[in-house]
Formats: sequence, C-alpha cells, structure tokens
Amino acid sequence: MPKAILVINAGSSSSKFSVFRDSGQGDPAMIITGQISGIGTEPVFEAKDAQRRPLASKSWAFGEPTDRKSLLSFLLDWITERLEGATLVAAGHRVVHGGLLYSAPVLLTPAVLDALEGLVPLAPLHQPHNLAAIRALAESHPDLPQVACFDTAFHRGQPWQAGMFAIPRELMDEGVRRYGFHGLSYEYIARRLPEIAPELGDSRVVVAHLGSGASMCAIHGGRSMDSTMGFTALDGLPMGTRCGNIDPGVLIYLMRQKGMDAGALEKLLYNKSGLLGVSGVSNDMRVLLDSADPHAEEAVELFCFRIAKETGALASSMGGIDALVFTAGIGERSSPVRTRVGDKLAWLGVRIDEAANAANATLISTPDSRIPVYVIPTDEERMIALHTRNALAGNAFPPP
Ligand code: ADP
Repeated sequence: MPKAILVINAGSSSSKFSVFRDSGQGDPAMIITGQISGIGTEPVFEAKDAQRRPLASKSWAFGEPTDRKSLLSFLLDWITERLEGATLVAAGHRVVHGGLLYSAPVLLTPAVLDALEGLVPLAPLHQPHNLAAIRALAESHPDLPQVACFDTAFHRGQPWQAGMFAIPRELMDEGVRRYGFHGLSYEYIARRLPEIAPELGDSRVVVAHLGSGASMCAIHGGRSMDSTMGFTALDGLPMGTRCGNIDPGVLIYLMRQKGMDAGALEKLLYNKSGLLGVSGVSNDMRVLLDSADPHAEEAVELFCFRIAKETGALASSMGGIDALVFTAGIGERSSPVRTRVGDKLAWLGVRIDEAANAANATLISTPDSRIPVYVIPTDEERMIALHTRNALAGNAFPPP
C-alpha cells in the first residue's frame, strides 16, 4: 500500500504544508502543497496540486474553533480524504533549533519535545511555533508518528573553530555559540549537486541560500564546514528585513544612547533592517531592482557586496573553492543579483554566461570560468519527507 508523509513548516501566524506520496522507491513525490495563514486572527486554508494549480480553499466563520489543534484536525481530515488509497504514516516538521543535542532528525517523544522546549531561548521567534504545531498534532492524532528535522543539524559536524565565539568559555558551555541555519536547504543541495555535476566529487562548494532569510555555507565533501549564520538567524548576510553581521558595539551604543531594550533591538534588527532598512523602499528584491530610488540601488549593491565578501571568507574556511551555487527565491530567480556577485568574484576567475544566467539555467558560468557556477532550486520539504521516511525506518538519532 502506498504511503503518504505530511511535511509541516509552522510559523507564528501560518503553517505551510506539503504531502508526499512515498512508494518506497526513489524520492517521495510531492502531491499537495499549501498553507493555513492568519492563524490567531482570521485563518485561511489554501491547497494546490504538484503543478501549483488550486485544489481547495476555506476560511472560517466567526465563532468556529480556530485554535491550532482544530485547524490541524481540519487539515488532516482534508488530506486523508484525498490520499486515494495511500495511508498517512507520519508528519515531518521543520524545527529551527536542535541545539548541540541533535545532529540528525529525531522521532518525537514527550522527552524529546521537552528537550526541544529547553531550546526556546535560543530561537524565541521560531521554536515555540514549531513546537506548538507538534503538540497540537500529538493531541489531535496521538497515534501519528512525528519527526523533527532541524535547521541546525547539518552544521553540527563543523570544525570547532567555526562554532566558537571568542567570549568566556562559561557562556559557550551554556550554549552561546555559532549553530548555523538553513541546514535542510544546504543538505538538499549537497545531495543534489553530485547528481548534476558528478565530476565535482568531494569538492569545496560555497552555497548561497538567498531568500527573504539569506545565508551562505561552505560545504566540503558534502559536509558543512562553516556558515554565515551563527547563534541566531540574524547573523551573516543582510536579508529582507534583518541586519546580518553587525558590530556588537552598535547594540551597546543603541542601549546607552537611545535607551533601547531587548524588545526594541529585536524589532529593529529583525524587522526594520536589511534591504528594507537600507532602501526605505521594500524588503523584496524584485521591487528594489525595478526601483529608480538610489537607496534601493544601494541596498542591492550592499547585498551583492556582502555575498561576494562572504564567498571569500567561506572559501578560506575550506582552503579553496571548486564551485559556487545559488539557491532560494533570489538565488534561483534573480539574474541581476547573480551577475553582480559574479562580477565581484572576477578576481577568483568567475565568469558568468549572461544568456544562461538570464534563462536561470542550471550552469550559468562560461566554459573558461575558473570555477563552475550553478543555480539549483532548493527543496527543504523533500528533504524533510526523506528524513521522516528514514526516521520511521528506525534510522533516527537516539533520543536523549
Ligand atoms: P523564504 O526565505 O521566505 O522561504 P524565498 O526563498 O521564497 O523566501 O524567497 C523570497 C524572496 O525571493 C522574496 O522576498 C523576493 O525578494 C525574492 N524573489 C522572488 N522572485 C524573485 C525574482 N524573480 N527576482 C528577484 N527576487 C525574487
């Protein structure tokens, strides 16, 4: 009997979901994708098929129960009706933080959930929502196995230098250290790249995951060696609304001179900075590229400057670079950004083939480029479905 796996990426006010059909042969195939948005206010459910054609939508009337548990119950009932003979065998969740405990996905038990709850202070904006969805589903469907897949796990094998801050050791022992995020995306790319370019073998690759959240990763022989995000998803590249790398002295200045507390700093650095803060126009790269405002141009230029700069730093962490990969919303679709980054890496021998780049081709460098440059669409959901299948088969990381 064919199996189905539900993949959930739960945020503060929305839960994205995908359903994969798993025949046990090859990769599971995505058959339904969608989201419930407006959780906590006015929820709206939307579902599409694998070709992104609308399948269904729903909003809830005033007075109907719209807590997470009720919404997830509705979702599971709706999915179950459409499985056409397949059985829903598990739910796999994207969980932002696995701390130092988890270097692989884990089958969820009450003890694991408690351990993950203990990591909330490390990711207060994301972890509680990830765990709320798991708890709600455990209440409504206690017999459905659930698996947590972590954004941090792929980076757990990094050399120790990449994980350390130069602060007193006691703080690091408490967990104040560099973790890295977007791990499911990097793991997918590390898995996909050898299929696209088998000749790269155990090479040194810099991957730029450029979405509304953006980070970069140094991958050597399929393993993470270093990444631009550190303790939180605020570090590294400037992003849609996040500042990225900033001198910590700025925070002390803002506290002393502007009387800002933790909440005000959080709002400033997570929601009002990055492309939005610099441009004053938008956090969306498409809008900035179309804008005639010089501050929009500055935001784009700063973004590309920092990507090129981090490429050099990450290459150094691996002792060299054999390929560069762009992925996620901007990385997959914005040829102007890739051109600019390529130009800034001309010193490294990077040459972009403009026709291939404009077509968002898989290989966008010229034959005489010193390293190949690829555009590879990421698929974190598929990675979660694969991990969930493995965990069910007993290949899970042991619980604490
Ligand atoms: P998330 O990080 O939320 O998963 P995505 O990876 O989907 O986001 O990336 C979303 C971002 O991608 C948008 O904010 C937008 O700036 C950018 N984007 C999407 N399409 C294009 C495009 N054609 N050109 C430039 N930027 C794009």
